[in-house]
Amino acid sequence: PADPNANFKQGWLKGVYNEKPVQDVQTRFPPEPNGYLHIGHAKAITVNFGFARAYGGKCNLRFDDTNPAKEEERYFTSIKDMVSWLGFEPANITYSSDNFDELYRLAEELINRNKAYVCHCTAEEVQKGRGGSDHGPRSVCSHWSRPVAESLEEFRAMRDGKYKAGQALLRMKQYLGTKPEDYAVTDQDSPETKKEKAKLKTLAENPSMWDVAAYRVKDQNYHHRTGHKWRIYPTYEFTHCLCDSFEGITHSLCTVEFETLRPAYNWLLEALDHKLPASEEKGPMQREYGRLNVEGTILSKRRIQMLVEGVNAGGQQPSEEDELAGAADELQIAETGEEEVGAETAVSKPVAGTQTIPPVVRGWDDPRLFTLVALRRRGVPPGALKKFVLDLGVTKANADTKMHMLDASIRTYLERTVPRLIVVLDPIKVVIDNLAEDYLEEREVPFDPKDKEKGMHKLPFTKTIYIDRDDFREVDDPDFFRLAPGKSVGLLYAEHPLRCTSFTKGEDGKVNEIRAEYGAEVPAGKARIHWIGESAAHKSPIRAEARIFNSLFKNPRPNELDWKKGGYYENVNPDSEIVHKNAMIEAGFFDIQQRAPWPKEEGEAKGNTGPEAVRFQGLRTAYFCVDKDSSAENIILNRIVSLKEDTSK
Ligand code: ATP
Ligand code: MG
Ligand code: MG
Repeated sequence: PADPNANFKQGWLKGVYNEKPVQDVQTRFPPEPNGYLHIGHAKAITVNFGFARAYGGKCNLRFDDTNPAKEEERYFTSIKDMVSWLGFEPANITYSSDNFDELYRLAEELINRNKAYVCHCTAEEVQKGRGGSDHGPRSVCSHWSRPVAESLEEFRAMRDGKYKAGQALLRMKQYLGTKPEDYAVTDQDSPETKKEKAKLKTLAENPSMWDVAAYRVKDQNYHHRTGHKWRIYPTYEFTHCLCDSFEGITHSLCTVEFETLRPAYNWLLEALDHKLPASEEKGPMQREYGRLNVEGTILSKRRIQMLVEGVNAGGQQPSEEDELAGAADELQIAETGEEEVGAETAVSKPVAGTQTIPPVVRGWDDPRLFTLVALRRRGVPPGALKKFVLDLGVTKANADTKMHMLDASIRTYLERTVPRLIVVLDPIKVVIDNLAEDYLEEREVPFDPKDKEKGMHKLPFTKTIYIDRDDFREVDDPDFFRLAPGKSVGLLYAEHPLRCTSFTKGEDGKVNEIRAEYGAEVPAGKARIHWIGESAAHKSPIRAEARIFNSLFKNPRPNELDWKKGGYYENVNPDSEIVHKNAMIEAGFFDIQQRAPWPKEEGEAKGNTGPEAVRFQGLRTAYFCVDKDSSAENIILNRIVSLKEDTSK
C-alpha cells in the first residue's frame, strides 16, 4: 500500500515543514462547536492531523468555544466522532474556554505594557477612525492615549458589569497610531529606509491591524462551560494565537482567508513575549492553505438549518452567508465589537398558523447533504474522502472542484475494494415455463472477478427469477438489446440465454409478470442482464428498500439561489431521493455483511465500523451501503454513487 504520509512530504506542505523543521511537530484542528462539520472540514482535519502524523508529531482537537452562544452537546460529540471516523486520534482534546483566566491575565498584561486600551467609541466612530474613502484620513480616538491605569480600571469595570455590549471594548494598540506621513517615502530615504517604510505601510493598511478588539462585553453571556462567570469574552484575534502558544503549536495551519490576519497573530504573540520578534523560531507559526469548495454543495450552517428545520416565512429571515462567512464574521466581530447579528439564532422555528417553508431534508445527516455525518451515512468511505482532499493537492490555492469529480474519486476508490452483489431495484417476476418446479442451478460466483481474495458465493438459478424493470420493454426496438417479447437476452453468471414469450400487466398498468424460456436451444442475446433467483433454501431474494440520491437542487450552483426570500424552495429537485420499496438483494449479502467493514483500510478501522461500512457494488446498478436505520427485518440501502459518471452534475 502507498505511504499515507507521502502527500505531506512534498510540495507546499513540505515547504511549510522546512520553514520550521522541528522534532516535535504540534498542530491543532480548531472547530467552533456551533454546528456539524462539512466536507470542507475534512480537508482541515486531514491537513492538520496528517501533517502531524507525517512528521512524527501530534495534533490536538481544540474546541474554539469563545462565544457564549448556546452550545449543544451533539456538536461536540459529532465533531469528535468525525475526527475518529476519518481515522485520526487527537493527542489532546482542549477547550479555548479553559484558558479564560489566563487570557484575562494576559489582557491586563497587554494594558500594562501600554499595548491595549479601553475604548468607548460606537461602531460608527470606530469605523470612522479607520479612515478610508468615506471617512477621510485615519485617526486615533481620544481613548487611545488614556493612561494605562485608567484603561486597567475600565477593563476591570467591563469585567465587573459596568458596561453593556457596545459601550466598551478592549482594543489592541496595533498600528492605528501610524499616520500616512510615517511611511511616506522621501527622496532622501536610503534603500533600507524605503524597505522599512514599505513594510510599515503594508502593516498600517492591513485592516486586521487597525486596533481590533481583544475583548468585548456580551449581554447574553451564559457560557456552557464557565456559566455566568464572565461578562466579557475574548475575540478570535486575541484568543487563537495565544491558545496556539499555550498548547505549544509549532505549525498553525489555517485557511487562506486568515492570511491577512497573520500580522495581527504575530503582533500579539510578540507583544506578550510568546514569540521571538520577526522570527518563526520561538512560538507558533501560522501558515495558510486553500479552502476546499465543491460546486453544488450547500455548506453554510444557516442554509443547512433552513433545509433541515424549514423556515417560518412570516418570521425572521436568516441573513446572508456564504461559505466564507464563518471567518468573515469573526473578523467583523473583532473589528466592531458588535454581536454577530442573527448568527446563532439563524432560523426561527415554524409557528403554527403562519405560512411556512417546510423542511427539505430529514436531518443534518440526510445523505443528500455534504455534512460529514451525511457523507458517512451515505456510505462515502473515510479513506475516499481523505484521498480526494489530498489528490486535489494542498497548496495556497483554493481547491474548487465539481461534484462529478468527487463522485468519480469515490467510485475509483470503491471499484476494487468492495465486493459485488446483484441488486434488483424495481423487480419484475419472470417465470420460466420450460423449467421444472424444483429446477436449481447453483452458480459459484466470485465477489470480485478480479480479486479472488474476496471469495466466492452461491447464486441459485431457479424457475422463478427477478429482473430489473429497466431491462424489459413491452415493445421491442432494434436498438434495444435486452429483454422484450420474442427477444433473447443473456443472464450474468447463468449458462444459457433467456427469451420472453409473453407478459401480463397488473391493474396499475405496469408489467407484473413475464413468461420466458431458457436453455441451450434458446437463441443467444446481445447483452447480459442481472437477475435474482427465488429459492427458499438459499433465503433468496432478500427484500430491501433502496434509496437513490440525486442533487438536492435543479440548479447546479444552488448557492446562487435566493436564500433570503425562500426562493430556494422552488428549485428543490423532486427526484433528489428516489425510493425503491421493493428492491431485492441476492443472498450473498449476508456473507459480506458479516465480513464488513468494506473497504478494509489500514488505520481506518477505528471509525469505519458503522452500518455504512457494509458497502458493495450492485452489478450494473450502483454502489450501495447499509443505512443506519436498517434492521434485520427492514433492510435499507443507500446509493453511495452511480456506476457511471453523470457529467450533468
Ligand atoms: P462554516 O463554514 O460552517 O461557517 P467555520 O469555518 O466557521 O464553518 P470552524 O469551526 O471555524 O468552521 O472551522 C474549523 C477549521 O476548519 C478552521 O481552521 C477552518 O479554516 C477550517 N475550514 C472550514 N471550512 C473549510 C473549507 N471549506 N476548507 C478547508 N478548511 C475549512
Ligand atoms: Mg467559525
Ligand atoms: Mg466558515
